[in-house]
Amino acid sequence: MNKTKAKKHSEIYDVIVVGGGAAGMGIAITLGHAGIDNFTVLERDKVGASFAAWPAETRFITPSFPSNSIGMLDLNAIAIGVSPAYSLEVEHPTGEEYASHLRAVAKHFKIPVKQQSDVRLVSKVGDEFHIQLERQMLRAKHVVWAAGEFQYPRLNGFLGSEHCRHTATVPSYEDISGDNFIIIGGYESGVDAAYHLAYQDKKVRLFDSGCPWTDESSDPSIALSTYSQERMREDWFKEHVELFPESPVASVSVVDGGYEVVTTGGNTFHTPCQPLLAGGFEGSQKTVAHLFEKRDDGFLLLSEQDESTIVSGIYLCGPAVRHDNQVFCFIYKYRQRFAVVAKSIATSLGLAAEDLEQYRQWGMYLDDLSCCGEECATC
Ligand SMILES: Cc1cc2nc3c(=O)[nH]c(=O)nc-3n(C[C@H](O)[C@H](O)[C@H](O)COP(=O)(O)OP(=O)(O)OC[C@H]3O[C@@H](n4cnc5c(N)ncnc54)[C@H](O)[C@@H]3O)c2cc1C
Repeated sequence: MNKTKAKKHSEIYDVIVVGGGAAGMGIAITLGHAGIDNFTVLERDKVGASFAAWPAETRFITPSFPSNSIGMLDLNAIAIGVSPAYSLEVEHPTGEEYASHLRAVAKHFKIPVKQQSDVRLVSKVGDEFHIQLERQMLRAKHVVWAAGEFQYPRLNGFLGSEHCRHTATVPSYEDISGDNFIIIGGYESGVDAAYHLAYQDKKVRLFDSGCPWTDESSDPSIALSTYSQERMREDWFKEHVELFPESPVASVSVVDGGYEVVTTGGNTFHTPCQPLLAGGFEGSQKTVAHLFEKRDDGFLLLSEQDESTIVSGIYLCGPAVRHDNQVFCFIYKYRQRFAVVAKSIATSLGLAAEDLEQYRQWGMYLDDLSCCGEECATC
């Protein structure tokens, strides 16, 4: 797993991983453990770019703890033996801190990464994949799509949504001017934005189509994390933030130099500040959607090895992975699929991949999805 080896074989790679985020780095390390060395990671910017672009104040909601020594992998670790808690000495890293951790991990494992390599198109021609960059085309036997969600925000959904600003484009809540905000979307990103604005004594009205603040599910992919619940109990949050549950927004329009927000129930609200959109992400998978079947909910349909069901050799890795009702949107969830994907690719290349057995001991090898057909406490 080093640059020289990857270069020597560069005519056709065994694997190309697209995306140098948590998923891309995690799967790249796992490919190495599977005995695969002829691979590279293509990253449009630099390793950890999405995390580095989080609003400056935003922190991980899943805590990091150096529990590896007793056989429990740090929740935010992407590889065995790695712990953001240990290396960063923080429990809830900022995006920039986690990005620096990813860069250190990539260096430590000598992951071959081609930075500034923006993938425009992936197609299958005969038995190989053609990966089109701006000025170059690369060839590979397998592709792992790990380009994430953060850089592909959902900007539509209601009339006039283009008048809003997505929270993924906010460099820092400290720098936003104005005192009276409307935030559309009340799950993690919306609560995070409200918390930081309220901390600066700004008034916030937080709208959601449901009521994620009281959802009783034990799955943080559905209900609000404990970290956010704690923040909502802060005095300044309660003083400054007004919650509007069951209030889907129907339209946003520009009126008299300010903004008018109308809910589907017909209620009208005004704000002088550009409304903030915290409505989630479309995800990068739309770039490779032509190579996959789709599920009824729009997510890509995957085999039990997270491979396309119609084009063999292309895999999805990261938070957009779905199996039945199971959502893999956190690192501690989707890392359980790295070994499954690496094993499948290794098998196709005729490699035994015995080293991957250690992933099972670390709870990073979820190859039996049968317990997860329904939402359950362990998943
Ligand atoms: C505000 C916020 C808080 C979160 N908190 C947590 C948390 O506490 N715990 C947790 O587990 N998860 C958390 N998440 C989710 C977590 O950030 C994502 O699950 C994680 O970033 C996904 O990693 P990824 O590698 O799939 O995507 P990314 O980190 O987005 O990495 C994808 C990489 O691919 C690159 N890329 C994109 N398109 C292309 C292309 N066409 N060609 C080449 N390269 C490309 C990007 O530059 C990027 O570096 C949070 C997300 C947000 C937005």
